[in-house]
Amino acid sequence: ATLPYDDSNIFARILRGELPCRKVYEDEHVLAFHDINPQAPVHILVIPKGAYVSWDDFSERGSDEEIAALIRAVGKIARDQGLVAPGYRVLANVGLDSHQEIAHLHIHIFAGRPLGPMLA
Ligand code: 5GP
Repeated sequence: ATLPYDDSNIFARILRGELPCRKVYEDEHVLAFHDINPQAPVHILVIPKGAYVSWDDFSERGSDEEIAALIRAVGKIARDQGLVAPGYRVLANVGLDSHQEIAHLHIHIFAGRPLGPMLA
């Protein structure tokens, strides 16, 4: 694992209901909501409900059920939001070099405009 999990992070507070969010999807293991500062017309964050900092942390400590739920949720959201035909981008920032701001694992879904080439 990378950093120890700190449950005062913003997404932990959203999960506890201490902060509001514009919910897109929820199940036993996953919550998805609109990003507060969208970088595209569609910008959704998909997070595991469990206390995981990073992709490597999640892949090591997460159960197969939790991991499957996160991946399935991303695909379901893409279908339900009508993103499949136009296309969408899935991205996760992990750690300092990637500019991860919130230390609770999250997957970004971007869509709704031509997104251009990936960043270098
Ligand atoms: P990161 O840079 O860690 O990959 O992405 C963090 C994302 O969380 C950013 O896109 C930022 O706009 C979003 N964000 C930060 N605070 C909040 C919040 O309180 N609510 C929501 N919905 N998104 C947030």
